[in-house]
Amino acid sequence: MNAKNLDLQVYISEEKIKKAVERIGNDLTTKLKGKKVVAVCVLKGSFLFYSDLIRRIDTDITCEFFGVSSYHGGTSSSGEVKVTLDLSSPIENQHVILVEDIVDTGLTMNYLKKAIESRNPASLTTVTLLEKPDALKVPCKLDYVGFQISNEFVVGYGLDYQGYYRNLPYIAQVLNLQ
Ligand code: 5GP
Repeated sequence: MNAKNLDLQVYISEEKIKKAVERIGNDLTTKLKGKKVVAVCVLKGSFLFYSDLIRRIDTDITCEFFGVSSYHGGTSSSGEVKVTLDLSSPIENQHVILVEDIVDTGLTMNYLKKAIESRNPASLTTVTLLEKPDALKVPCKLDYVGFQISNEFVVGYGLDYQGYYRNLPYIAQVLNLQ
């Protein structure tokens, strides 16, 4: 399958994404206003969600980036998490918002939670745009979820297939994956 030849169907529209981002941003503002907050973007998939979300959080925050890779370009999780970029500053005693694009098996989010918690933050709030509850392989408690979706492969709004489609402004379902 040529990466740029997928048959796509809009699954979650720009308008619906915008409303979910506003809702989560308002909730995070209420929860964390006045605290020392650092928002951690999990690269690469959450960069668009993260950039929209932090603009909806009405309190002082600093930004950090954590690069991990678990799919290695395919469509099913390898279960192995590889760190490609570490945080650039300590997060000790700060209120951390961890922003993921999608929780599938839950392995990546659990790995990230442990990695953040080992650095002694004041608190950890987990956020994901998408969650596939039927795909979970390990229990994974999430504080804020944009959308729960069924167990199928999606691209767009930061999510890729072999590196492509991240720039779609909406989430699309892929109809012609074997
Ligand atoms: P997990 O460790 O929960 O199985 O997988 C998390 C990572 O797998 C996500 O951060 C994302 O990179 C990738 N992933 C899981 N499901 C999908 C999907 O439907 N589409 C895309 N593009 N990536 C996915």
